[in-house]
Amino acid sequence: MDEVTTPRELAERAGVSAESVRKLLARRGFTKFGTRWRIHPFLAAEIEAYYRQARTARPPVPCPVEGCERPAGARSGLCPAHRKRLRRYGDLEPRDGAAHQRAKTHCPKGHEYTLENTYVFADGRRRCRRCRLDAALARKRPTASGPLVRAVPESP
Ligand SMILES: [Zn+2]
Ligand SMILES: [Zn+2]
Repeated sequence: MDEVTTPRELAERAGVSAESVRKLLARRGFTKFGTRWRIHPFLAAEIEAYYRQARTARPPVPCPVEGCERPAGARSGLCPAHRKRLRRYGDLEPRDGAAHQRAKTHCPKGHEYTLENTYVFADGRRRCRRCRLDAALARKRPTASGPLVRAVPESP
């Protein structure tokens, strides 16, 4: 007797629901043999491959909240942390933006916020000294990234 597989066994191997497997079989025109599904190893392997491919074809959707790189859940469309925040507060506003900023150890360009490299404003916000210096130098030397030849007034 041929070795056969049931939708439940196949579903377990593919990591999906048995219902999903039954629907897929029905969509492909397969029907039950008597009262039971009897899936041949050939078909079982094909279906497993189908689910594997379907999973890799759909990469996880990132959480839509700005700056958040965690993957979003399929049902809520948010990452677990933001889902929790929405449930608790009813919105997605960060509660303590200052603490979030203070937790950063580097400027957006990747310079470390050391004592020497950091300007601190009266309100506690920080600015990277290296970045300010770079910006000042860039303003002084426009040719560094600009046109190599300066426009000269045309002689009459
Ligand atoms: Zn998020
Ligand atoms: Zn910087």
